[in-house]
Amino acid sequence: MSKVLIIGAGGVGTVVAQKIAADPVFTEVMLASRTKSKCDAVAAAIGGDRVQTAQVDADSVPQLCELMRSFRPDLVVNVALPYQDLTIMDACLECGANYLDTANYEPRDEAHFEYSWQWAYQDRFREKGLTAILGCGFDPGVTAIFTAYAAKHHFDEIHYLDIVDCNAGNHGMAFATNFNPEINIREVTQKGRYYEDGRWVVTEPHEIHRSLNYPGIGERESYVIYHEELESLVKNYPTIRRARFWMTFGEEYLTHLRVIQNIGMARIDPIMYNGVEIVPIQFLKAVLPDPKSLGANYHGQTSIGCRIRGVKDGRERTYYIYNNCDHEKAYAETGTQAVSFTTGVPAALGASMWAKGLWRGAGVFNVEEFDPDPFLAELGRQGLPWVERFDIDLEV
Ligand code: NDP
Repeated sequence: MSKVLIIGAGGVGTVVAQKIAADPVFTEVMLASRTKSKCDAVAAAIGGDRVQTAQVDADSVPQLCELMRSFRPDLVVNVALPYQDLTIMDACLECGANYLDTANYEPRDEAHFEYSWQWAYQDRFREKGLTAILGCGFDPGVTAIFTAYAAKHHFDEIHYLDIVDCNAGNHGMAFATNFNPEINIREVTQKGRYYEDGRWVVTEPHEIHRSLNYPGIGERESYVIYHEELESLVKNYPTIRRARFWMTFGEEYLTHLRVIQNIGMARIDPIMYNGVEIVPIQFLKAVLPDPKSLGANYHGQTSIGCRIRGVKDGRERTYYIYNNCDHEKAYAETGTQAVSFTTGVPAALGASMWAKGLWRGAGVFNVEEFDPDPFLAELGRQGLPWVERFDIDLEV
């Protein structure tokens, strides 16, 4: 029985609040964010006074601590932005709360993704006997849990790991991002990076691409980009020789992205405009569609999974484990599109794993370090069923 504080009331926070509110392992639930009215709207839709709400600036450790000292959460679920990871972890340490997030820390002034900042909290969480669970969305999150499941049940050694992420949905807009536009554009415009033979290979953005066949969807052009779970997976599975992350993009999306970059709207450094300092990408976020608003007209599916090659009992084998999620179904259940749904469901389920004592430990953990079995046993029932295929052509 646990008290949980959810921070962030965007698309992902909306799904997390709904799923956590429906889980009886949580005795009390609070949703806090920068804009309290958004929390109130989510809580009202859930109803029954199940979810309390509060305003908090998660960039401020004193504000977070004030809230945490009055509510006294056992666990804090961070679904605000990656910029807030470290302040929320600091507040958890100060107030004795456990921690879970879905995206690794990013400094505001540098589009740079690595776990080092959060792994540096290892000793402090261990000394306090607290658990910090990093990257418990879909990717990172379920993709790492799929890999852990493959390693536990189907392979003696994993040699090649290709994580494939396809969004074949259509929202009818000329250009929109599926989660926070600022974070999304920073992620997809950076250089590509993958792991091979003990080193990281850097490519130009979207340099490596090929058409891949996604189940129930068909062929989609897929691009190698850097994604944060690669860093923890190659550390936790040292037999991996090559690890890559592929994401699909449509021609239209890439054209818009190129224009946005070429005209300077993807810049993350402040500029002066009419005597006011603005950051172009933050201004762009203000004029782009809110990802939360895309759901109503979104059709089609996402398909995200792991294509793995390795050995079992001395024999080479291939394995593909994936989930397909339908945008319309996600919207009918939660009022959000599939990208918020596929992130929010695993975050709420990871919180439940912690609350039930199934995922515990003193220190900082990536999700693949916990037992994947109880998580995957429940994932389908929560709306994200998964499929396994053995000894097939992986294409990659
Ligand atoms: P949104 O922008 O929709 O929501 C973010 C929320 O955080 C908003 O409610 C925002 O408040 C709030 N927030 C921002 N800054 C602060 C602050 N300083 N203090 C308090 N609250 C703050 O983003 P999403 O819901 O799309 O994404 C949420 C997280 O999920 C992100 O970290 C994203 O990277 C991650 N994610 C992870 C994925 C995965 O598979 N692992 C996939 C997709 C997303 P306000 O409403 O006032 O702006």
